[in-house]
Amino acid sequence: MPELPEVQTVVVQLDRKITGKTIRSFWSDWGKKIYSSKTTFAKKIKGAAVLGVRRFGKHIVIDLDNGYSIVAHLKMTGHFLYKTEENRDDKAFTEDPINGYIHHIITFSDGATLEFSDMRKFGWLRAVETGEAEMLSSIMTLGIDALSPKLTQDVFKGLLLARSSRPIGAVLLEQHLIAGIGNIYRSEALFLAGILPMRRIADIKPSEWPKILPAIKKVLRHAVRLHGTSDGDFRDTDGLPGRFQRTLFVYRRQGEPCKKCGTIIVRKKMGQRSVFYCSSCQK
Ligand SMILES: [Zn+2]
Repeated sequence: MPELPEVQTVVVQLDRKITGKTIRSFWSDWGKKIYSSKTTFAKKIKGAAVLGVRRFGKHIVIDLDNGYSIVAHLKMTGHFLYKTEENRDDKAFTEDPINGYIHHIITFSDGATLEFSDMRKFGWLRAVETGEAEMLSSIMTLGIDALSPKLTQDVFKGLLLARSSRPIGAVLLEQHLIAGIGNIYRSEALFLAGILPMRRIADIKPSEWPKILPAIKKVLRHAVRLHGTSDGDFRDTDGLPGRFQRTLFVYRRQGEPCKKCGTIIVRKKMGQRSVFYCSSCQK
């Protein structure tokens, strides 16, 4: 499932590729996930030019010059593909099966298309007034963004200490506290910080605190640079997988030796999800 770095990759690429373009038409064969009728959605976006693309948590917001914004969520397998006359026949688009489940197409006046491929069909689109985008309940309930400069060491520590009896691995996933850390990056960040995911927040020592937030930001930023992790179905707007999975230390490496010390990586259930760690490198 796409997490913050994957969505950020899409936002950066789309902002560069579609800003300034005018929407000519809209096609869809999966109106169920547009959250207003297909016709209403098309009416709201047709003829408008793209002002820019932003991210709130894992939501992609495409602002238009007519007062509306398109809000999109990739959910499990959704991803945007940007196609022009030049790249339409690229192998990534024509031969990678994951890019073949096109359910929505926005066509721009220059003939370029923004296509939404979604095998599992959980992803969604909606058109809202730009001022209302941030008011969507799934955005309103988000905590501070993990990559926001406002997430300082003091703010971070304060948020976590309010959950002091809980394991740090579980609290890092609470999106209403800090938005954007998912299953992959909490395991990787805690490995980098040398902290076991099961540690109670109350038991984290003063000398350990300064390691955690920088590890989170480092892992997320590194993942953005590598266009995210494609252990499954994520593709960027060129239809290409991310490259961060090659650099994973612990996530889905259970049974394999730690890249730093050789100890076998462990997988453990925590709530509904699995955490991964090295019992020597992490204390
Ligand atoms: Zn190790």
